[in-house]
Amino acid sequence: MTYQVLFTIFGATGDLASRKLYPSLFRLYKKGELAENFAVIGTARREWTHDYYREVVLQSIAELITSDHEAAIFASHFYYQSHDVGDAAHYETLRRLGETLAKQYQTQGNQMFFLAMAPHFFGTIAEHLKSEKILTGAGFERIVIEKPFGESLETATKLNDSLTRVFSEDQIFRIDHYLGKEMIQSVSAVRFANQMFESLWNNRHIDNVQITFAEALGVEDRGGYYDTAGALKDMIQNHVLQVLSLIAMEEPEVFDEAHIVAQKVKALKAIKTYTLDEARENFVRGQYAASSFNHKEFAGYKEEPLVAADSRTETFAAGKFEIDNARWAGVPFYVRSGKRLTEKGTRINIVFKPGGSSLFEQNLETANILTIYIQPTEGFSLTMNGKKLGQGFEIEPVVLMYRHDSAYLGNSPEAYEKLFLDALKGDGTNFSHWEEAKRAWELIDVIRAAWDEDASPIPQYAVGTMGPRAAHELLARDGHFWRWTPDVWYRERGLL
Ligand code: NAD
Repeated sequence: MTYQVLFTIFGATGDLASRKLYPSLFRLYKKGELAENFAVIGTARREWTHDYYREVVLQSIAELITSDHEAAIFASHFYYQSHDVGDAAHYETLRRLGETLAKQYQTQGNQMFFLAMAPHFFGTIAEHLKSEKILTGAGFERIVIEKPFGESLETATKLNDSLTRVFSEDQIFRIDHYLGKEMIQSVSAVRFANQMFESLWNNRHIDNVQITFAEALGVEDRGGYYDTAGALKDMIQNHVLQVLSLIAMEEPEVFDEAHIVAQKVKALKAIKTYTLDEARENFVRGQYAASSFNHKEFAGYKEEPLVAADSRTETFAAGKFEIDNARWAGVPFYVRSGKRLTEKGTRINIVFKPGGSSLFEQNLETANILTIYIQPTEGFSLTMNGKKLGQGFEIEPVVLMYRHDSAYLGNSPEAYEKLFLDALKGDGTNFSHWEEAKRAWELIDVIRAAWDEDASPIPQYAVGTMGPRAAHELLARDGHFWRWTPDVWYRERGLL
């Protein structure tokens, strides 16, 4: 399918546009999803010429270029228009350019708007698109936005109201880039296409679920933004709860957007809303401290550029969610996410209950575990028990592994590219919907409030560990432990 569409990118000179948007559009172009009938208007405050803009676009796709001729034709579809989003007159210029390009490229009135800008501009942009008649209803008209979607239930509701005054929910595509990842989309395949898992997918057979989103990097040059967010809002509210809802949801009757989203929302609503005391008991936070790791010295979070020296923003959050329904009652869902941890890795561990055989000693140490690897490797593994080779009858864990490095194999389309194609198709399955975001904020607001009330020092953790001690104690209290403990690997090699 080749799409006919005019893209307008707000924030075209920014980091998101050049790191993600242009490369994704180029990949779609190379695959033939975009061909002659598309044009891109890039807007931002700076005064750039079309030619300069095209140079920037070419630079941002440099690594993907295999033919200079092809790249030059691709770039010729890009046009730049200097624009201040608060000035109505500027939209008039934008509309005229859009009309000219729509004719020239025969885009059939289809329009996609990417808002690669801070969320406080979203409302103004949406309103002007309507009042200045850039939206005409002639073709499909969709708006794509990035996180953060609000900072609390209150601010998210305001933001949503400002968008829905102009766009309907099915025209709004809220990107959660993890939902574009191959293995997140495979969670449902692993679950529902395998009778051996789906028949065990409940509290009779699953002991606990563990979701880890670990980053090895610190805040890098995004300290200014991060210090206003923290791990809870930046990761748990969106990515982690999205993954959790995919694992916990009931099987949708039909595998389409409406049914899947309805089941995810139902799962999110079944998560217990904690009281402030429960939130304090079940969630822990941490901040990375200045430390050495792997023979290198690292600054602590509070010494990072653009971070307040007395910052109480958490760079690590871990907690336990409980789900009050027949399938999951009594099964803790442990989640954690943090920066400057031992290594980068997003994975899900489904820990099954130990069996009841009297022949072998079975306990949580020998539990069967289904691990789903999201990144940097993709795939899954199943930890089973086998007999140790040789004399005797000792049991040892065996890991059946299907795991590959997607970047190396190059066969897994980049998350953004997949999501753009979905948005072009009008398929919102892998985007975050308002009902999901809203419920997630309800859950997160309580935890945030509990932490904000608590003036005790933020627990510190050394760079290269898997978070503060409290994150381990949280599970130990229930007789559990984190199944993925990369620290062990490092400790054995004398690196920690
Ligand atoms: P950036 O600061 O690099 O770019 C912002 C863009 O907005 C620039 O093009 C700037 O010229 C434009 N802009 C600012 N004020 C304007 C105005 N009044 N009128 C017109 N244009 C204006 O930011 P970014 O890193 O590209 O991020 C954009 C948004 O995406 C942010 O909300 C950020 O939180 C979100 N986001 C970014 C990333 C990323 O990887 N960079 C990842 C996730 C989410």
